[in-house]
Amino acid sequence: MSTTLPDIDLLIKARWIIPVIPENRILENCALAIHQGKILAIIPAEGAEQRYHAREIINLGSHAVIPGLVNAHGHAAMSLLRGYADDHPLHTWLNDHIWPAEGRWVSEDFVRDGTDLAIAEMIKTGTTCFADMYFYPEQAAQACLDASIRCQLAFPILDFPTAWGLGPDEYLSKGLSLHDTFRGNHLINIAFGPHAPYTVSNAPLQKIAVLAHEMDMPIHIHLHETAQEVSDSIKQYGCRPSQRLMDLGLLSPLTQTVHMTQIDDSDIHLLQTSGAHVIHCPESNLKLASGFCPVDRLIKAGVNVAIGTDGAASNNDLDLFSEVKTAALLAKAVAGDATALGAHTALRMATLNGAKALGLEEYIGSLEIGKAADITAIDLGELAMQPVYNPASQLVYTHSGQAVTHVWVEGKCLLKNRELQTLNEREILGKANWWRKQIATH
Ligand SMILES: [Zn+2]
Repeated sequence: MSTTLPDIDLLIKARWIIPVIPENRILENCALAIHQGKILAIIPAEGAEQRYHAREIINLGSHAVIPGLVNAHGHAAMSLLRGYADDHPLHTWLNDHIWPAEGRWVSEDFVRDGTDLAIAEMIKTGTTCFADMYFYPEQAAQACLDASIRCQLAFPILDFPTAWGLGPDEYLSKGLSLHDTFRGNHLINIAFGPHAPYTVSNAPLQKIAVLAHEMDMPIHIHLHETAQEVSDSIKQYGCRPSQRLMDLGLLSPLTQTVHMTQIDDSDIHLLQTSGAHVIHCPESNLKLASGFCPVDRLIKAGVNVAIGTDGAASNNDLDLFSEVKTAALLAKAVAGDATALGAHTALRMATLNGAKALGLEEYIGSLEIGKAADITAIDLGELAMQPVYNPASQLVYTHSGQAVTHVWVEGKCLLKNRELQTLNEREILGKANWWRKQIATH
């Protein structure tokens, strides 16, 4: 007797699946059944075709399949300034190099072309969702829609004028209208992006706190990036930046604090009691000699720590796997403890913790039934990954970003056998070269 099998869109069979939830679990020779953008079932690969009639079947015989990576902090368009001003400390880098270059070059076209370049690099290295903070977020939104990648766009708010607006009032009104435009959009999420405590004064920060709570919108802010930021705040406001934000009502589970180097017990206590998230950007912190985020202490204190690359101008790549490796190594060195930030915890930071920081953990961050099919596949069959005793270790401690072969967002394939499916790589390369010529010769 034959029964009709249920039709599904996609069946992904993999040598290993690391679902992140349940924790520390590695499934062998299993398959993901995907339909209408969601994970329908996780079943043994053998016999899967007797249970579902899939329109497409992908066999990944030497691969690990994991939830798509969440790059929880960056400035995508700054990819066009990759390598433009290296080897300077943060304040010199910003004041003497980056801000003047941005003043001269940032435009709608710059943001669109730079964001396309960044998205292409992120897809090719396994990222399916990224948090961005940059000017002209409406251009970044269009780039994300065209590429079919998920994002959280934090619109910038600063005390001073930039190419995108004159001051806090204009930034807020433009940002809120962007939020209206994308209300209900399943790929684009809009957040408040007050740049940092030293570039935004109390009045706009207070306004943001009130609006964010009323509208249930995330707040994304650089915080405690350098020792100077902390000492300047004590001089100007009589307290540390984290305390100032707490007093202004700005620290809550809606808040994503980026960097958090130079932190003491009082700062950790504020993070614990407020439920604010930390976005750790180890390579940017190392390159700008900003300091070290005590990741192991934060995790042990119950603080949610996610991970971000920051912009390519201070990293200089957007490969989140390489960031995970740096984070794992640095956490051990900072804690003086080789058991700090093990491989599974590091992978969770780059997936579920990122989703949680962005308020998206119901939808993404783990491979669970009912969640969106945001998925990354990495080929562990490469020479430098042999032999494979523990796929989680291989993903964290070898060059996994270069071994990403497939990426899906909501079941749509964005990378297939290392080829971009929604973006034109040649065109993106051509535009990056055009911008280099403009910027280098003026
Ligand atoms: Zn940043």
